[in-house]
Amino acid sequence: MMNDMNEKCAVVGVFNVKGAAQMAYFGLFALQHRGQEAAGICSNRDGVFHMIKDRGLVTRVFSEKKLKKLKGDMAIGHTRYSTAGDDSILDAQPVYARYGLGALAIVHNGNLTNAKEVREKLIEKGAIFQTFMDTENMIHLIAKSEKDRLVDRIVDALHKVEGAYSFVIQSRSKMYAIRDRFGFRPLSLAKLSDGYMVASETCAFDLVGAEFIRDVKPGEMLIFEKGKAPKSIQVFEPNPHKCIFEYIYFARPDSVVFGKNVYNLRKKMGAELAKELPVEADMVVPVPDSGVAAALGYSQQSGIPFELGIMRNHYVGRTFIEPTQELRNLKVKMKLSPIKEVIEGKRLIVIDDSIVRGTTSKQIVSMLKEAGAAEVHMRISSPPTTDPCYYGVDTPEKQKLISARMSTEEICEYIGADSLAFISIDGLMRSVGDDQNYCKACFDGNYIV
Ligand code: AMP
Repeated sequence: MMNDMNEKCAVVGVFNVKGAAQMAYFGLFALQHRGQEAAGICSNRDGVFHMIKDRGLVTRVFSEKKLKKLKGDMAIGHTRYSTAGDDSILDAQPVYARYGLGALAIVHNGNLTNAKEVREKLIEKGAIFQTFMDTENMIHLIAKSEKDRLVDRIVDALHKVEGAYSFVIQSRSKMYAIRDRFGFRPLSLAKLSDGYMVASETCAFDLVGAEFIRDVKPGEMLIFEKGKAPKSIQVFEPNPHKCIFEYIYFARPDSVVFGKNVYNLRKKMGAELAKELPVEADMVVPVPDSGVAAALGYSQQSGIPFELGIMRNHYVGRTFIEPTQELRNLKVKMKLSPIKEVIEGKRLIVIDDSIVRGTTSKQIVSMLKEAGAAEVHMRISSPPTTDPCYYGVDTPEKQKLISARMSTEEICEYIGADSLAFISIDGLMRSVGDDQNYCKACFDGNYIV
């Protein structure tokens, strides 16, 4: 079976900067929230590639000594997020290959929707694959193209793949940054000393002191060549369908994603929730960290005090990653615990960003009730997640999505809350602003590809 292995990862690229790998490392460190399973960097000095990749967190994969081996003034990097199944080191990125025009390395954030068909066709013609990653398809398509120049081969290959991608490609002397025509996943450009940096989120720029220039446009390819300003080619007509879930959950609050600060948007979603779905209570409590900004917005809008009634242990990874239900249950408890003295006898409005399978909310409600909460009113700053994502957000298949199977009343009963309400799609879109070019297929099932 083919695994969709490129999901909501992070990519970085550093071009024409001394100690490029070090900068890529810091970039990945800032983007760790986008994937904790594996990390890798491929650098390049005078056309010679150096690569290190391994399972685990960025700080585990790299040491000072290892980074010193990654010589050169160009580097691309990746952190991988993946679901159950194959956690082979082969599926870590960057992916490196030698081909007709020399060598290249590639990193990918997103999910190619026609990966299976493309791969089957390539295999029929004798191609050999080393990994399950759809990223490897790109390498084959580039290698097989009959065009003379790499840039034309990349364009050729891009016309054969569909779906969500932010690619950063490194050749012997150039770097290419590409975003799909829908712009599902974010990718931004910054100036860094004498060179440039691209990254999935702007929080990577802030850490290394890079100066944000602009987002890579949907359908655009930027070509970085020494001694020149980045060259832009609009490979596809842009048709923006930016992923709304980046705002809801995935991006870091200090990032500016699709031109807007994530923290401020989450606060607006919380305020909108308070307007749409008010309830009488003693305090507003966030599920940390995902519900904090929305809970502040809810509290400020409603005038009900904000309290940190639930503590988070920061040394546990995200609970979503665990494959089996039993492990997921335990992991919620490992990660979150109530502050009894704050919530005892109180009526709580508990804010989280989403309910996917329902595991987290169910555990939280029972934990809070056990700790003595008088009432627990769950308020969710996204609409019910009814449909899976094929563009890189790791939502499970439809039958595992609790909102695909149950009504809000039924979910409320299942999680044991006194009341439950989700923000409406209209309310969500009001908080995001007037620019309405978003993909919200996980809430309405309208898939563009
Ligand atoms: P669940 O327990 O399956 O209902 O998942 C909901 C919880 O997982 C919420 O607390 C979210 O903050 C978090 N969450 C939502 N979407 C994702 C995702 N794609 N990856 C990891 N965590 C997520």
